[in-house]
Amino acid sequence: MDRYRVKPGQQINLTDYDPDDKSVFDLNKKTGKKKLKDVNKELETLQETLYAENKHKILIILQAMDTGGKDGTIRHVFEGVNPQGVRVASFKKPTEIELSHDYLWRIHHHTPAKGEIVIFNRSHYEDVLVVRVHELVDPKVWQRRFEHINAFEQLLADEGTTILKFFLHIDQKEQKERLLARLQEPDKRWKFNPNDLAERKYWNDYMRAYTDVLNKTSTEWAPWVIVPANRKWYRNLVSGTTIVDTLKKLNIQTPSFKEDVQGWIDKVQTL
Ligand code: AMP
Ligand code: MG
Repeated sequence: MDRYRVKPGQQINLTDYDPDDKSVFDLNKKTGKKKLKDVNKELETLQETLYAENKHKILIILQAMDTGGKDGTIRHVFEGVNPQGVRVASFKKPTEIELSHDYLWRIHHHTPAKGEIVIFNRSHYEDVLVVRVHELVDPKVWQRRFEHINAFEQLLADEGTTILKFFLHIDQKEQKERLLARLQEPDKRWKFNPNDLAERKYWNDYMRAYTDVLNKTSTEWAPWVIVPANRKWYRNLVSGTTIVDTLKKLNIQTPSFKEDVQGWIDKVQTL
């Protein structure tokens, strides 16, 4: 899975990353989906222990172009996981009040507590992506933000947060198909946003902005993973497996019960 991780200091070029790649799990859609069930099970168990131990904090950041699959990844990767202890925070266009503070103000509040997994559906990275592409602030202002973001994420990591960041990488051809699907399938129509067509015109600017994000903010304490995301099953498998592998490394333990078990059983039996 390491092949999709951006190493600190590495200078990647997004054109070297094929959104259709499926080299780590060379499966077909059917077997890929089946394999995800195993990942779901593993994640379910790990999350249960994580919650019980009440020690680690897990932050998962999802970024992608429109239709990139952030919602689908959350739905499929976390299928079966106990909703208690998992939370999704979605970041939309900032409100007036949010805009009158610094851009991290609205973010910090949503970071995970002990025992919790929090998934960011968009994040503070919008403040160096959409904000940059649409020139919502002076370049001098967004340019400084990479440093703030690294420091902010280091603070979270130092205080016990494990951070994983996924860029769900699709191409324009795939986006066109997904936009069409949203219009053609009645159940999906609510997701169609005419503004996505306007945003699509800025594709190259976004790719440039994403490249900077990936090159400047993939750190030891908060790495980026570039997920080939044209195939939904592959995207889910890569993200899910990366999360599971990361949680396994934390050596999460169910808290030990230090009391005299038999003594308590005897007591309860006399009730
Ligand atoms: P969606 O995720 O499709 O519901 O769309 C949310 C919209 O909010 C996207 O168009 C984002 O670009 C936009 N958005 C999120 N964060 C910011 C931000 N900090 N500044 C401006 N727009 C933002
Ligand atoms: Mg949208």
